[in-house]
Formats: sequence, structure tokens, C-alpha cells
Amino acid sequence: AHLDRIAQVDGVLHAFLQVDAEGALATAREVDAARAAGEELHPLAGVPIAVKDIACTEGLPTTAGSKMLEGWVAPYDATIVRRLRDARMPILGKTNMDEFAMGSSTEHSAFGPTRNPWDVTRIPGGSGGGSSAAVSSFMAPLAIGSDTGGSIRQPAAVTGSVGAKPTYGGVSRYGIIALASSLDQIGPCSRTIADAAALHEVIGGHDPLDSTSIDAPAPAALEAARTGAAEGGSAALKGLRVGVVKELVDGEGFQAGVKELFEARLQQLREAGAEIVEVSCPSFALGMAAYYLILPSEASSNLARYDAMRYGLRVGPEGVDAPSAEQVMAASRDAAFGDEVKRRIILGTYALSSGYYDAYYGKAQKVRTLIQRDFDAAFEQADVLVSPSAPTTAFPLGEKLDDPLAMYLNDIATIPVNLAGVCALSLPMGLAPEDGLPTGFQVIAPAQADERMYSAGAAVE
Ligand code: GLN
Repeated sequence: AHLDRIAQVDGVLHAFLQVDAEGALATAREVDAARAAGEELHPLAGVPIAVKDIACTEGLPTTAGSKMLEGWVAPYDATIVRRLRDARMPILGKTNMDEFAMGSSTEHSAFGPTRNPWDVTRIPGGSGGGSSAAVSSFMAPLAIGSDTGGSIRQPAAVTGSVGAKPTYGGVSRYGIIALASSLDQIGPCSRTIADAAALHEVIGGHDPLDSTSIDAPAPAALEAARTGAAEGGSAALKGLRVGVVKELVDGEGFQAGVKELFEARLQQLREAGAEIVEVSCPSFALGMAAYYLILPSEASSNLARYDAMRYGLRVGPEGVDAPSAEQVMAASRDAAFGDEVKRRIILGTYALSSGYYDAYYGKAQKVRTLIQRDFDAAFEQADVLVSPSAPTTAFPLGEKLDDPLAMYLNDIATIPVNLAGVCALSLPMGLAPEDGLPTGFQVIAPAQADERMYSAGAAVE
């Protein structure tokens, strides 16, 4: 059914870069046979899934949305892909994304944009627009995303679906193409909180192959989501201290309808017995600036591996007979990387250059500590923090392509979460009155309190 749906609508939406009908059907048939033979199966066995093209998959191309990796087939599976296969979840294919996960609209994909299922003239969010569009258009019940500054939560918000960014280190990144290693996190995309929680349990938990992996089992996320949803959420909401982060609501650029829906939701929570407290996190104002030093710095370093020598696209410089390795590298990187990737490599290389480290990267790291302290203080006053997930609904394709700063501002509410390594999810908040498009409600919980995030999220849902 999902493959049929893909055949029906993906010609327009372009959520997938590759569809593996044969592989998905083969797994589905194996599950049928195993079930018929009375074998004990994982509860998600046979449930199809779409995987963001940032995760290495044996036997299928992995491009990270870049010409640099066009046609490249990884020789091994990312740990999360292995875990999906172990659970016997059929992999439907690989989803579209902004090149190397840099962007908020999926328009920076080298293979053309994905369209928002709610309005195909608009963006599906980014960088994981493909995964969220696949889920919200019923091409897949579940998908994998990656979130470095909001790439799971912002697409979820603007496509009316659910997306969770687990605690930093909670899900293995072994075999995931690195963007900014101190921020990157893999997480679930779905249509309900319980589905996200169930998928989190499949992919989460310690992985010795990832040195940043937390040495703990996956959280009991599904149980938490069920507890939160009990009695229509009222049991979990009674007495729950919900902190409204002033800086994430009052900020400039928040669409009127987004604010209205957020206020209405707070009122519902209040009526259900939650205690709404206002908290202030003054250093969040510096989050965007710190992020756009830390991310480009780490990305410029991570992307140095695409040297056209070991793998990836290789072209010779024009008109040179016997080019040096350096000339080939320069020509290949020039031909293969898109504008946004180049912009960030230049920014990052500049920020890390000798003599500038303290002024830029070092200072940004200090801001990061301030943001962590603001979170610590806020979590003394509240059990969870909430905000709109994104300041606006989906904008028209092309609108912000020539204005990187305007594009960056779409992540204003999601970025502090990555800088601090805490966990957060986005759930549907309703359709904005002015344009009838989906909005998202963000629930943030402390590091390693993913269960609390799912339980509160399910109570609000
Ligand atoms: N949109 C943000 C950026 O462009 C976040 C990206 C991400 O989370 N991968 O950096």
C-alpha cells in the first residue's frame, strides 16, 4: 500500500531520492513467512520505514543530498539502519534532504526540492523535508531524521507531523554522514507521539561504535507515551509544571496565527490542571550567532574528507594536462558542492583560522555554556519547557533562497536545544487561521529525560 502511495504522489512531492520496492517487499515477505511459521517477531516487524539519505545503507545509494556523493553506495550499514533491519522493518527508500543537512527548506538538495503535501507550492521544511513529507502524505508510517539545529522538528511542524530530537548521544551516529558532530542527533519522524516513541526504542540505546553514545539502554519511550496519553492526558498534566520560554515566544518574526494557537494550547493545558510558569532564558538571544559559528566550524572540518581522492565525485580542472592532487581537489569541490555548503565551509574555515579561534569558536563555546545554564535554571522551575516549534508556517518555495539569514531564522526556537544537548519534540498544534497551514508545538525536557518528553508530549497531543 505504501509503495502504491509513493507511485501515486511522489512524482509531485519528490520526498524520495531512491525507492527500494524490491528490498522492501522482500523484507515484508520474510516477515509474513516468519509469522506464518510462528516465529516471535519484533512488534514493528513488517512496518515500513523511510530513511533520510544521511544514513549509510548497504546496497542503496547514500548521497546526503549532494552531487559529491551521487551514486555512492556505502559498504556498511549505519547502526540505526542495522537496528531497523534487525527488527525486520522494510526500508522503503532514502529521503530527500538539504545538501549535507544544511538548510530549512530542502531546496538546497542537489537533486531538486521536496514539496509540502499541504500545499505543493510551499517548502516541507528542512533539512529533513523528505522524511516529514513522506510521513505526512502517508507514503510511510515512520521515517528517520537527523536534527542538528531543528531538521527533524521544523519539518514536522510545517508538515503537521511529529518529530523528536532525542538527548545528544541517545541514538547512535555510527554510519551517519556528519554535519556538526557536537550537535548532530538522529531521531524519529511519525504522525503520532506513540509511533515516534516506538521507533525511538528500536534505534536508541548504547552503541560501542559511536564514542559519543550514552552508555544506557534506550528509554522506555512507548510506555511513557502511553502513560502520558492516559485519561486524555489529564492525569499527566495535573500539576505538571510547564515553563513557557519568554524568549521563544516574544521574539520577532513569529506569525500571529502561530502565537494565537500557542496561547490557545497553553490555555487548554491550564484548564487540564497544568501549572503554566513563565521562564526566561536571556542567553537564547545569542543562540543563533553561536550556532552559526559552531556549526560551520565543525562542518568545514567534517567536510574536509571529500577530497576527491578516496571517494566521491572527481573532476579535473579545465585545460590542465597533468593536474596536481590539490588542483583536482579544488576543481572537484567546486563542481560538487552547492552554494550553501560552500558558504558554510568558508565561514567555518575563517572562524577556525589561526589567531581567530578564541574570538569566534572559543567565544561561541562560552555562549553555549550560558545557554546550558539557562536551561538548568529553567528546569528548576519547570518539568518541561514549551514553545512554538517554528516561528511561521511553510513559506513558498524560492522565497528565502537568496536570503540565507531569513532562512536561518526559521530555526530560532529549535537551535538552543541542540546547543545544550537536551531533548525536544514537535507535535501538531493546529492550522494557522491566516493560511490554513500546519504549525508545531515544541516540548523540551532535560538531557536523558526523554521519557518525560514523550509522556508530556502525548499528554499535550
Ligand atoms: N536548518 C538548520 C541549518 O541549516 C538545521 C539543520 C539541521 O538540523 N541539520 O543548519
